[in-house]
Amino acid sequence: MKKLFAIFGDPVSHSRSPLMHNCVFKHLDYPACYTRVHLKDGTKLKETFFALGLSGANITVPHKEAAYTACDEVRGFATKVGVVNTIINENGRLIGYNTDADGFMFAIKEFGDKKNILILGAGGTAKALAARFLQDGIKVTVLNRSKNRLSYFKELGCKCYSWEDFKISKYDLVVNTTSAGLKDEELPAPKNIIESLLDNTSYVADAIYGKTTPFLKLAHKKNIICKDGADMLLGQGILANELFINYELKTKDIKTYMSKSFEL
Ligand code: NDP
Repeated sequence: MKKLFAIFGDPVSHSRSPLMHNCVFKHLDYPACYTRVHLKDGTKLKETFFALGLSGANITVPHKEAAYTACDEVRGFATKVGVVNTIINENGRLIGYNTDADGFMFAIKEFGDKKNILILGAGGTAKALAARFLQDGIKVTVLNRSKNRLSYFKELGCKCYSWEDFKISKYDLVVNTTSAGLKDEELPAPKNIIESLLDNTSYVADAIYGKTTPFLKLAHKKNIICKDGADMLLGQGILANELFINYELKTKDIKTYMSKSFEL
C-alpha cells in the first residue's frame, strides 16, 4: 500500500520538502507520496496526523515545539533540545526526532575536522547547532546583536558576545544563523566585525538558502570556501527520508535524487 507523508507548518506553501521527498520516491520507485498541510493550531497536530492516515511527517515553523509535546516518545538529539522536526507513526504511536542539527553536520562534513566554531545569531537554529557542536566536543562561540538571548548559550558552555564586547579569535568555521540577508541586504553584524571574522576563519556557512546573502558574497570575495543553507536543508531531508522508509533505500541514492529536486 502507498504510504503518505506530509509537512506541517504555518506558512507551508514555500516549503521545498514535498518536492525533495517526492523526487526520491518517484525515481527510486518507492510506493509513497508526500504532501503539505497548512496547520494553524499546533495543538491539533496529533489528531490531524492520524485523521490523514499519515505514516510520517516533517514539522516546520512555528510547530516544532508543539510537535515535541505531541509525541508519545522522543528519540535522540530531539530529547536534548525539546524541538522535533520529524515524526513517525510506529504502530499507532508518534515517535519524534530532530534531523535539523544532524543535517547540518552532514552538510559540513566535507569541511573536515572542526575544533572551533563561531555562530552568528542566538535564535532557534543557533540553539540546536550549539548543542550539537558541543556534543561533538567542539568549542562554540556565539555572537548576537542583542545580549538578552545569550544567557541560554552561557549556561550550555559557549563563549558569548554581543557586537559591543566582541573579541576575535581563530575559527575553523563561522555559521550565520541570523535572518540578516533573508529578505534584506544586511550583514549579520557590523561590517568591520564580519571582515575580521572572515579573515580569521577557514570555512563559512549560512543557514539561509535560495539566495546568496551579503555575508556569503563577502566570503566569496575573500575566496573562502562557503556553503549556503541548501545542503543543511538537504541533510535534514535525507535523514528524515531514511526514518520515513525505515532505511529501506541507500543513503547515496536518496542523496542523488533529493539533490536533483533542487534543480526543479
Ligand atoms: P530566529 O528568529 O529564532 O532567530 C533569528 C536570529 O537572527 C536572532 O538571533 C536575531 O538577533 C538575529 N537577527 C535577525 N535579524 C538580524 C539582523 N538584521 N542583524 C543581525 N542579527 C539579526 O530564527 P531561526 O533560528 O528560526 O532561523 C534563522 C535563519 O535560519 C532563517 O533565515 C531561516 O530561514 C534559516 N534556517 C534554515 C534552515 C535550513 O534548513 N537551511 C533550517 C532552519 C532555519 P536578536 O536576538 O538580536 O533579535
